[in-house]
Amino acid sequence: MTLTRSQTSELLERFGLAPRRSLGQNFVVEPETVRRIATLAAVSSDDYVVEIGAGLGALTMALAETGANVTAVEIDAGLLAVLRENTARCHNVRVVQEDAMQLDWKQLLAASPHWTVVANLPYNVATPLVADLLDDVPQVQRLLVMVQKEVAQRFVAQPDSEAFGAVSVKVGYWATARIVGEVSAAVFLPRPRVASSLVEITRRASPVVPAPFAEMFTLVRRGFATRRKMLRRALDGVVVAADFEVSGVDPQARAEQLSLDDWSRLTLAVISRSGRVS
Ligand code: SAM
Repeated sequence: MTLTRSQTSELLERFGLAPRRSLGQNFVVEPETVRRIATLAAVSSDDYVVEIGAGLGALTMALAETGANVTAVEIDAGLLAVLRENTARCHNVRVVQEDAMQLDWKQLLAASPHWTVVANLPYNVATPLVADLLDDVPQVQRLLVMVQKEVAQRFVAQPDSEAFGAVSVKVGYWATARIVGEVSAAVFLPRPRVASSLVEITRRASPVVPAPFAEMFTLVRRGFATRRKMLRRALDGVVVAADFEVSGVDPQARAEQLSLDDWSRLTLAVISRSGRVS
């Protein structure tokens, strides 16, 4: 069960609603796409799923059919009445009106230590939201999310590519990520200007490299803030020549050329010389 294009239009009209661009409201109106996402989510009655940005409930209803325990988060009070009506008969769905950027995740996810995020994410918060969930919410073990194609490419990017940035390092630090599908702009109402991709992000049992998170990302953020500069300039004042030498990282390289292992060794060299990264 999900919503077609005409059902979505009818619901919006009946409730006097118009999609809000400021909240990234592009609703999926092609049942085939919704079913594809629910299938890729690969969840069943033993699983706990949190959907961020449930909208009118098109994906929520498809997720409910898998039997999983679904928590549907939606910020927009205007959509809540429709979402509640559409999921009223789904006894495994809990609807929560919250801003996902301000949520008390520990409390929301208290029912289980293992959660899967399945969502067509609002484009305006997709990147910080995924980054925050990886950094701060270990209960989220896996994410199957639809995001703008360019954002997906950044999540999965490898060194030496234009798309490789601080968020790619972050995703790689905590997780493995891969693009599992492409989605045309034509499946949304209203139609966005860009295509989307489906990305699967699976949390690792522990970070892939030994450098401590806070210190390593202080360096990573600095490095990518001026990504065209050589590292010896971009990291001037924090990393000294001896740190480059000890870690074997080329001071003339640019941030986008360093692997996670390079970032980790550089961070550990700074820590062992000065006790901290600042
Ligand atoms: N899941 C629906 C679908 O696939 O048709 C709607 C997806 S739409 C791309 C994104 C949804 O996220 C909108 O319903 C929007 O109101 C909601 N949203 C935007 N910002 C949010 C936030 N900070 N917290 C929770 N929901 C948010």
